[in-house]
Amino acid sequence: MYSENIDIANSIVFLIHQDRVLRRRYNKILHNVVELYEFDNIQKALEKLNQTKPNLIILDKSAYEFNNHEIVQKLKLNSDSTTVPIFLSTKTNNIQTKLAYKSQVEFINEEDIDKDLLAKVQNKLHSEQIHSLSFEQTKYSKELYTDFEKACQDLNELSQKYEKVTLEKDNANSQIDMLRVQDKNLHRISKTIRKSFDINANLRQTVDDLSGIYNLDCCFVTLPVEENNDDTIRCESVSNDAYRIVENDLDLKILSIFKANFNIEDPLVISDTSTDPRYKIFGKTLLGNIAINSLFYFPITYENKLLGLLGGIKVESASKWSNDNENFLVSVAGEIAGGVVSSRLYAAVQRQATTDGLTGLLNHRTGQEKLSEQLKIAERYQRNLSVMMLDVDFFKSINDNFGHPAGDTVLKAVARLIKSNCRDVDIAVRYGGEEFMLILPEIAQEAAIVVAERIRKNLSNEIIYHDKIEIQITASIGISSYPEDAKQQQKLLSLADRSLYLSKRLGRNQVHSAPDLLYEELTGQEPIQEPIAKNPFIKNVDLPPISESAKEQEELIPEVIEMVKALAGSLYSRSEYNKSHHIETAKLAEILAKFMGLPKRDIEQIRVAGLLHDVGTLAIPSDLLDKTGEMNVLEKEAIKEHVVIGAQMLKPIRALKDICVILENHHERFDGTGYPKGLKGEEIPLASRIVAIVDSFHAMISARPYRQAMTIDDAIIVLRKESGKQFDPLIVDIFITVIKDIYKKG
Ligand code: GH3
Ligand code: MG
Ligand code: MG
Repeated sequence: MYSENIDIANSIVFLIHQDRVLRRRYNKILHNVVELYEFDNIQKALEKLNQTKPNLIILDKSAYEFNNHEIVQKLKLNSDSTTVPIFLSTKTNNIQTKLAYKSQVEFINEEDIDKDLLAKVQNKLHSEQIHSLSFEQTKYSKELYTDFEKACQDLNELSQKYEKVTLEKDNANSQIDMLRVQDKNLHRISKTIRKSFDINANLRQTVDDLSGIYNLDCCFVTLPVEENNDDTIRCESVSNDAYRIVENDLDLKILSIFKANFNIEDPLVISDTSTDPRYKIFGKTLLGNIAINSLFYFPITYENKLLGLLGGIKVESASKWSNDNENFLVSVAGEIAGGVVSSRLYAAVQRQATTDGLTGLLNHRTGQEKLSEQLKIAERYQRNLSVMMLDVDFFKSINDNFGHPAGDTVLKAVARLIKSNCRDVDIAVRYGGEEFMLILPEIAQEAAIVVAERIRKNLSNEIIYHDKIEIQITASIGISSYPEDAKQQQKLLSLADRSLYLSKRLGRNQVHSAPDLLYEELTGQEPIQEPIAKNPFIKNVDLPPISESAKEQEELIPEVIEMVKALAGSLYSRSEYNKSHHIETAKLAEILAKFMGLPKRDIEQIRVAGLLHDVGTLAIPSDLLDKTGEMNVLEKEAIKEHVVIGAQMLKPIRALKDICVILENHHERFDGTGYPKGLKGEEIPLASRIVAIVDSFHAMISARPYRQAMTIDDAIIVLRKESGKQFDPLIVDIFITVIKDIYKKG
């Protein structure tokens, strides 16, 4: 009935009893069942206890009572934790005694030894063994459980660590993915910004693109230019019409607040407007009652100047802008700055090439081109066309009396008045200093005279203010019409001009047209040309031969090209330097003109002008040209004459007439202190301004007998220093870019 692995044969039982007979009785029953030790008193048993621990003690009750509990306790305490069961051997079955020791001991009635003892002892030992086994088990399972719990905990920690590492890895991967996407986006956006010359369209697409990338409710770019509205760029992309910033001019307010309150180099990024105090600075400016959740303003700067802002606004959701987002948008703002600056430069060159800087009207050359276009249209569709020439009367006296700036104010007023007295399709041109041309498509002579009379009258009634000075002017006007007066452009112009001078001769402030010239001589003889040489140093130059018919051609025909080559040959034969200087100047000038986007014809003329720019020096003796010492006034004047002489030499050939103009003006200075005429700023033809810069630059980087060659960097420093003085500042900027490009590539 007991579990098989429970065996009591090895159990130790202490029998302590003074009665030998009784001990024998116990022994008889137990000695084959357990290991039995007999003692006649407690003291001996206690001594034995040091070597052997009993599993059970049978104790004489009188000994127990005689010795006190403490000794019994000692006996009972077998090991540190377990107590040894005690059977008290009694003579009677006294209940009271039983009760007294109930909690600690059991009893064996000495009368019943034969009947009860064996079973009682076996039972006790068994139950003790089971108890101790189960105690061990509990202890073991407890330990096991603790181990298990610890293992679980370790596992848990490990899996948490693993999760964390995986998360970090995922984050790192998604970060890499995000950066990759940003890189692609940036590449696409920078391509968009430079896609075409229409920077407005490019930026409209860019804000659309950014809105998509960041889910913006409004993305805008604002780049206002007060001085020139043509250059202003303001565009936006919105998710809803209620969020329009630019259309409501809020961008301008935001920009001015930004300028006044923040560092123009630092982006302003507000992820949560409800907690960021900086938002309050803009608060009322933004969309009235609509609460904005987050926003960013990235300054668009160029050379430490704030050009404008790239803005993004989220109304419907807040956003956490990361450093990566910020870096990306800083790059986009940088791309926008680059794109805008180069497109403005390009537009400025275009404007400069076609318009007059003072009045904003078309310049002389473009006027000629437009007239030629209009004449072709009139011819093809058999329409009328009139040309009006206007010259301000006694204009020189305005300059003389009130100063040049007052003269400028008058010219601007005249231009404005002409524009406001004609139709949009009419083409107003600043033809010369104070001379204007108005092309009137589809207008016959009588109608043209009406327009001219209106302009003349209004002009004479106008009071022009300059610094509180009141100026009143009149103008003389001449008109010619296609087809009745003439069919060719030059003839038409000449007739309008002559009619204008008829008005002058007849007393000024009046209008005349070509038929009024009937009584005048219409042969149109060329004025007698001034002799080339006056200065004693200037010698006559034998020009290479060229036929009279070739002189009349508009195009650069082979005969003319041959003549140009012969002239260049004599020029280059003077010195190696002369040769390389002209060829290099031509090359660089051509690159510069191309870079500026000038028309093909202009580029070709600039190149030829570069090849020949000092051709006039053929009339100056070599020893004077190479003189290193101090020169006298006459000598200096002779050197200066080379520009006029060069122009005079080429003048008889029609195809080279524009090149003459370039040569004649290539020593004019932007500040008006050059020669021969002291022209200023945009009065100097653009092509001459280009050749002037390239000519000086190449001379600087060449070695001369009297000085060493300058480095490119030093020459650039000089160009910058002379920007606005000797040279046109805009062309200096562009040319430096070109130089850096060329010499960087090597
Ligand atoms: P007339 O009635 O015969 O036309 O006399 P005028 O004084 O108007 O004619 P003239 O040709 O003698 O003088 C023109 C002046 O215009 C000379 C020149 O200095 C001046 N001028 C040319 N371009 C400009 C300019 O851009 N600004 C100013 N202020 N003056 C200019
Ligand atoms: Mg005049
Ligand atoms: Mg004049």
